[in-house]
Amino acid sequence: MHPIDGVRRIALIGAMQEELSAVLALMPDAQVESVAGRQFLLGQLNGHAVVAVLSGIGKVAAAITATVLIEKYQVQGILFTGVAGGLASHAKRGDVVVATELLQHDMNASPLFPKYEVPLLGRARFQTDDTMTRCLVESAAQALPKAKLHTGLIVSGDQFVSSASESRRLQSEILDALAVEMEGAALAQVCHAYGIPLAVVRTLSDRADDSAHHDFVQFVKEVASQYSAAIVSEFLRQWPHAE
Ligand code: SAH
Repeated sequence: MHPIDGVRRIALIGAMQEELSAVLALMPDAQVESVAGRQFLLGQLNGHAVVAVLSGIGKVAAAITATVLIEKYQVQGILFTGVAGGLASHAKRGDVVVATELLQHDMNASPLFPKYEVPLLGRARFQTDDTMTRCLVESAAQALPKAKLHTGLIVSGDQFVSSASESRRLQSEILDALAVEMEGAALAQVCHAYGIPLAVVRTLSDRADDSAHHDFVQFVKEVASQYSAAIVSEFLRQWPHAE
């Protein structure tokens, strides 16, 4: 698939304004196009043609955004940056998690299909793109050398997980889940359907426990945007330029 204007852009997505505002500030000359109630910013960042957009919160909002990016802008790949709640005991607030796999923790069509499996697709887990993910791990390590970095499974659902009991339930049912958020696995299903590479990085704003709401609000206000911009910027420095 070739885009109408011949430019194969890299898509940059965040769920919330706070996650993407510092990235958008690096693209002052971007052209804005409105599609499906979203503003798509087309511009240049570190020598790459990019399209940046806020997806909105939740799986459906994320799926709409990814579909537009692929169908209308024919992007070469999608990079999501944002925040998440830590689930695994060693996944602490301020740590960075790069997804190698994503799963929808609120998908349950049992007993017709195994719990978490997406009906008729025969799978619960969707892999991120190896090449983009390797570059993202390198970039996150370079951009935030003090932050602890994890790679592995991130789970997504239409729920802000904000109680220790709910967090424990998820941990006990999905043993290798590192973090929980509300968009990643939806992007992964869309990208899987189209065969488009995806990479997802999340800074942990909270521990998905009883203080999650307070921790989340504070983190998003104070650090999320700088973290996202630092990682995205470094990723684009490292990502190979098209000839
Ligand atoms: N803007 C609203 C709602 C935010 S929902 C507010 O200020 O309250 C939380 C967002 O951060 C989602 O985009 C989700 O992907 C991520 N997130 C962070 N911590 C999370 C948690 N504990 N559970 C689920 N999603 C979380």
